[in-house]
Amino acid sequence: MTNETLHTMGQQHGRRSWAEPWKIKMVEPLTVTERPAREAALIQAGYNTFLLRSDDVYIDLLTDSGTSAMSDRQWAGMMLGDESYAGSRNYYHLEEAVKRYYGYAYLVPTHQGRGAEHLISQVLIKPGDHIPGNMYFTTTRLHQELAGATFHDVIIDEAHDPTSLDPFKGNVDMAKLRGLVEEVGAAKIPYVSLAGTVNMAGGQPVSMANVRELHAYCAGLAIKLLLDATRMVENALFIQEREEGYAGRTIAQILLEFCSYTDGAWMSAKKDHLVNIGGWLAINDRDTFEELRNLVVVYEGLHTYGGMAGRDMEALAIGITEAVQDDHVRSRVGQVRYLGELLTEWDIPIVLPIGGHAIFLDAKRFYPHLAQDVFPAQTLACELYLDSGIRSMERGIVSAGRDPETGDHKRPKLELTRLTIPRRVYTQAHMDVVAESVKACFDARDAATGLRMVFEPKYLRFFQARFEPIV
Ligand SMILES: *Cc1c(COP(=O)(O)O)cnc(C)c1O
Repeated sequence: MTNETLHTMGQQHGRRSWAEPWKIKMVEPLTVTERPAREAALIQAGYNTFLLRSDDVYIDLLTDSGTSAMSDRQWAGMMLGDESYAGSRNYYHLEEAVKRYYGYAYLVPTHQGRGAEHLISQVLIKPGDHIPGNMYFTTTRLHQELAGATFHDVIIDEAHDPTSLDPFKGNVDMAKLRGLVEEVGAAKIPYVSLAGTVNMAGGQPVSMANVRELHAYCAGLAIKLLLDATRMVENALFIQEREEGYAGRTIAQILLEFCSYTDGAWMSAKKDHLVNIGGWLAINDRDTFEELRNLVVVYEGLHTYGGMAGRDMEALAIGITEAVQDDHVRSRVGQVRYLGELLTEWDIPIVLPIGGHAIFLDAKRFYPHLAQDVFPAQTLACELYLDSGIRSMERGIVSAGRDPETGDHKRPKLELTRLTIPRRVYTQAHMDVVAESVKACFDARDAATGLRMVFEPKYLRFFQARFEPIV
């Protein structure tokens, strides 16, 4: 166990263990399958875990998106849905919650995160523009590219090194950003795309010092600083634990301060906000808001529902409040850490420091004998499924897609298999089962031979690509 964990546990309860700040009221039975059935299911799915039926999955760590367990309060909120087409009461509850915890002036609801990304990209980006960001996220970057921008990764180098223990591997490298501004000119950069806890880097946080510096720099050049707030609550916990001066501040206070250095945000509410569907976009600039509010009716729905039912907005408004409670965030990230620490004790290569929402297995070190072009991380996701029915996903060369100019694979430094932990869904015993299955795959690692891609869709290929084993 790391000192950090002992420290965070110790802070509140001396040497006693922590437990989840909830108890279970309703259960959903799981099915355990046999290996021959899993082999057949994986062939059917083209060796892509996204194409498996959930009935064939035992513990589902594909994603933490829309897979959270709602609270009894949220379910009660579902019964209070005001399904009026316009001006639903639930919309105003949502608006109030976003304003209170994120602080932005104007809200545009969307059906999920990518709906928000689409709108902001279409409104702010002109063809030929450039968007700097801390690493990238698949749907975010695609919407920026579809709007005509070129994306530039300006994250610090440490983020690309799975063994670096830098506490804020999500930070923007100011020298890289300055270099880009000098190269293309500030007028060609409508905004900096900043993500809290960078998913593709392993769930790594951005420091308050970094966002403060970015804010000062961008404001001077009239470049907007926009936040992907999807997992910002987890980012706030890392600031509380690791950054000088924040140990005594609440998650809610840290979140509000962080957002105050940015000009707006988009949100996949399916993550931090503990709902199964939903999203939003919020911005301080009135003129941009008017354009966004106009465009939302074209693509999502009226500006007081944006693709969500009234009941969805009510559950979301309640989820926002639950998401920023310190004991909730601590137990959520604590569970991820528990799994990560089991694996590191067994010398299984994972991205360190352990991130906020998932454990990322380092497939390059797991399978040093496999070239990146035979998809080691995709292979590991398949082996794990075959071993135990646990579903994970690839975050490596398949997810990175192709270079729009050369048509060749993008070859990211990180070749990772992600074990994503849904919020409030699985117990510590499930984490033990997961760790033991990863260990079994690790012990059998020399036998892995890799995959060949036999079908490749044009957009976001990782969702629908099909593979065959190399024999
Ligand atoms: C999931 C996600 C998105 C996209 O949101 P959806 O709700 O899946 O459309 C954007 N950014 C990040 C960081 C995400 O994790």
